[in-house]
Amino acid sequence: MTTPVLSCAGTAARSARFVDVAKSYGTTQVVSGINFHLDPGEFLTLLGPSGCGKSTTLNMIAGLDLPSEGRIFIGDHDVTTAKPSDRDIAMVFQSYALYPHLTVFENIGFPLRARRRRMAETDVRKKVMEAAASLGLEKLLDRYPREVSGGQRQRVALGRAMVRTPALYLLDEPLSNLDQQLRIQMRSELKDLHLRLGATMLYVTHDQSEAMTLSDRIVVMSNGRIEQVGTPQQLYYQPTNLFVAQFLGEPGMNIFSGRFADGRLQSNGVDLVAPPRTSSLASSVSAGIRPEDLVAGDLKTARLKGTVRTVEFMGSRVQLRADIGDTLVTAFLPAQLMFAPGQPIGLNPSSDDRVRWFDAQTGKALDFQ
Ligand code: ADP
Ligand code: MG
Repeated sequence: MTTPVLSCAGTAARSARFVDVAKSYGTTQVVSGINFHLDPGEFLTLLGPSGCGKSTTLNMIAGLDLPSEGRIFIGDHDVTTAKPSDRDIAMVFQSYALYPHLTVFENIGFPLRARRRRMAETDVRKKVMEAAASLGLEKLLDRYPREVSGGQRQRVALGRAMVRTPALYLLDEPLSNLDQQLRIQMRSELKDLHLRLGATMLYVTHDQSEAMTLSDRIVVMSNGRIEQVGTPQQLYYQPTNLFVAQFLGEPGMNIFSGRFADGRLQSNGVDLVAPPRTSSLASSVSAGIRPEDLVAGDLKTARLKGTVRTVEFMGSRVQLRADIGDTLVTAFLPAQLMFAPGQPIGLNPSSDDRVRWFDAQTGKALDFQ
């Protein structure tokens, strides 16, 4: 859980919980077995490829969609069937849907002037000015949405969510309409905002680097199911299965397969020695090594041997791709090492404990504890 640095609105932050939630449309099950919780003040991200059920999951806690099974709680309240307006949530979507005929000020203040919670104008002004100041929008308050940039519009949408102190913020790919540079800038601002508000945030993205940089914990999803829940570090260093190992990281973990006998995984160009108990845990195994855990080795004795395909200079290092057997492997190597496409190359894991072992049949990580 995050400790709020400067908590101004954090008092309203609540926990939230999904219990055995499933959703079907007709006979098509879209998500199932959804179980996770958010601590008060936590930034939790639903991460997974497009179509895996992230928005469906978010929409159910927002009250825009009804679960077919299971219960959803915000704080101690069972909100499974509650109206969206009774859930004390603020949402920010990818398409930020500002009112074009209202100024930036009026857009931000809109939720405060809504009939259900009409607030005195002096208080509205105070709240809007606070939100605008923390988002750097003070000079733009009299402009209309069409007169500000995409990044500024996205900030207005965030401001509109911030003027309230909801139990829970729900954000569905709020940065994906922005260009790369702005996305990275907004990412930092969002992180900063979260720390200042001390708010509970449930965030949706398909972008693993966004999830890794922003989140206290991540729920990795694929095909309507949860693959793993954990901190970015846990997911990165102890992926529970091949899906998580390959989905996280830029690029993901290199995976080697082949014949597995006498504790060795062997195939064309691959000869990796497994820890002693591996053989008793699975009959066929795959090994995973992250690009930064490979080092250049002697051509004759290296555990992995192949041919360099591409070398990209990245300043502090090179990103090298090599064909090893039928696996295209990525390695991050020191920039001073010289390699050329077509050249033979030997690679080794930087140490044995940097090699992860998986049951090749089930994809599950083999645990030696
Ligand atoms: P994500 O947000 O992870 O990209 P969604 O939650 O939007 O994924 O969608 C998950 C799956 O549910 C998709 O395969 C999508 O086609 C399907 N789906 C979403 N809404 C409906 C609907 N109203 N009727 C039928 N299928 C739907
Ligand atoms: Mg979506």
